[in-house]
Amino acid sequence: MDYDAIVIGSGFGGSVSACRLAEAGLRVLVLERGRRWNYKGENGATKYPRENTDPWWFSQEAPELWNGWLDLRVFRHMAVLSGAAVGGGSMVYANISATPHSSVFDKGWPPEITWEAMAPHYARVGDVMDVQQVPDNQWPLRMKLMREAANAIGAGDRFQKMDIAVSFDPEWTYDRADGRPPIDASLSRTFTNKHGVQQGTCVHLGNCDIGCDVEARNTLDRNYLAIAERHKAEVRPLHLVTGIEPTQGGYKVAFDHLDRGGRRPGSATARLVVVSAGSMGSTELMLHCRDVARTLPKLSTRLGYGWSSNGDFLTPAFHAREVQPTQGPTITSAISFLYGDPNKRKFWIQDGGFPNVVANWLTQATAADARVQTFLTFVNKAIRDHGPLKNVMPWFAQGIDAANGRLSFKRRWWFAGARRLDLDWDIDKSASVIEAIIAMHKELAKATGGKALVPPSWSLDRYLITPHPLGGCNMAGSAARGVVDHKGEVFGYRNLFVIDGAMVPEALGVNPSRSIAALAERALGLIVGEGR
Ligand SMILES: Cc1cc2nc3c(=O)[nH]c(=O)nc-3n(C[C@H](O)[C@H](O)[C@H](O)COP(=O)(O)OP(=O)(O)OC[C@H]3O[C@@H](n4cnc5c(N)ncnc54)[C@H](O)[C@@H]3O)c2cc1C
Ligand code: SF4
Repeated sequence: MDYDAIVIGSGFGGSVSACRLAEAGLRVLVLERGRRWNYKGENGATKYPRENTDPWWFSQEAPELWNGWLDLRVFRHMAVLSGAAVGGGSMVYANISATPHSSVFDKGWPPEITWEAMAPHYARVGDVMDVQQVPDNQWPLRMKLMREAANAIGAGDRFQKMDIAVSFDPEWTYDRADGRPPIDASLSRTFTNKHGVQQGTCVHLGNCDIGCDVEARNTLDRNYLAIAERHKAEVRPLHLVTGIEPTQGGYKVAFDHLDRGGRRPGSATARLVVVSAGSMGSTELMLHCRDVARTLPKLSTRLGYGWSSNGDFLTPAFHAREVQPTQGPTITSAISFLYGDPNKRKFWIQDGGFPNVVANWLTQATAADARVQTFLTFVNKAIRDHGPLKNVMPWFAQGIDAANGRLSFKRRWWFAGARRLDLDWDIDKSASVIEAIIAMHKELAKATGGKALVPPSWSLDRYLITPHPLGGCNMAGSAARGVVDHKGEVFGYRNLFVIDGAMVPEALGVNPSRSIAALAERALGLIVGEGR
């Protein structure tokens, strides 16, 4: 065997897996389809995207040509956003490291996964990623508006500061004694984190989702992956895995190296394989291996079922005052309705922010895609009618949806033989939680002098966009009910694991990355403990 273990993908599931396997002394190879990125483009990395001409998108059709920052998949009733980079979704995400309500594990999970079993793993993830809360002297306007809104509707006790994977300087503040503008990259302090990686402290530049200019975000390449690499794990960017097949004593993993506009095929073997390509990527790869290449024919018939959008929804509101959505960490706080009223829909509300480049794009761009153009027209009309973008509060939310989506391969009629991932999504069973979220967004906005405008994508089309895909290779007690067991091992295939968002069998109702990492910590503890 070329390696002891191959990990496919380097997001939350993949980085934790690579870290714990490498620490245990295994020879680990990590194959990641995306690039390595950092702010300066140092050490062979690509610079974070900023200009229109920068590599923003990752394309399923031509990844050798388009292997940029974000993967956007558009289906009939839903669009799905994911990261494509060394560090996976942690590179593009809003840093929120949330712990779900303990009741989330009461239904739909294997009996081994309980709140009591998971709690220490949530704590461990928080420690490795060094999560922090926005210091009390640094609340951006959005965070103050969140607390004010919660109090105004009598839900002050439901307001909470979020754990976020960002490093703060306790001395930085919006109110500088010398009167200079505080949001200035030169005010960031450089330090070495506990894993030996250099970072800076947050100066509220608001660019989290497009890569932090001062490297204040505690992304996976600065913690779990850094530990893995210190223990000699080999991370290969721009390696798109195309197949898995059993061989004597393990598995052969086939990949295409995306190299200067072309694809160079290759393969490697290992005793143990962890598929961590995310909900969409892992399910797509497993469907390919079962239904197209037929190298893993025994995969469960439940493959692709039980997919969830995690009840994500965003309602922009125009307020009669500045909210400055482009300042500060992208999300800072939540108002939780995940508990307390068993008869009501379960969700939580968060503030949302966006970088200046997105603000500029919203006001200046035109789009070829009709849906995107409708959205841009809506935004620009709203700005004309209701006020400037700096007064916008993007009220954000996640909730417990029906988790009844299904991923499968459909033939493309215009290209004989080729198949493409398809998502069947029936909104009917999830519409009530989205409507409950919208009603709460309107109530919170109104209580603070704002007007919430429901996007036409929902009001006309009931179309959703989610950055939180979950499921597809769901964990369960048996192959009749799911694809993997409680530690991610694929039913019917010893030493083949799916450890990432694809194994999550229910909506979490909160930002999912910490849960995925905690499930991975738990699984790897068992795998390494068994001496696999
Ligand atoms: C804009 C945005 C903001 C978000 N904000 C938050 C937040 O604040 N908090 C939160 O908890 N969650 C957030 N999320 C969601 C979070 O990023 C995901 O839930 C999380 O990254 C999923 O972890 P994962 O391990 O399942 O997969 P990922 O982190 O997506 O990692 C999968 C990796 O596999 C790679 N891959 C896929 N297919 C292949 C292949 N065939 N071969 C090789 N490599 C492959 C991908 O490039 C990717 O790097 C956000 C997502 C987006 C898009
Ligand atoms: S707010 Fe700005 S400085 Fe702070 S983490 Fe986000 S991008 Fe970095």
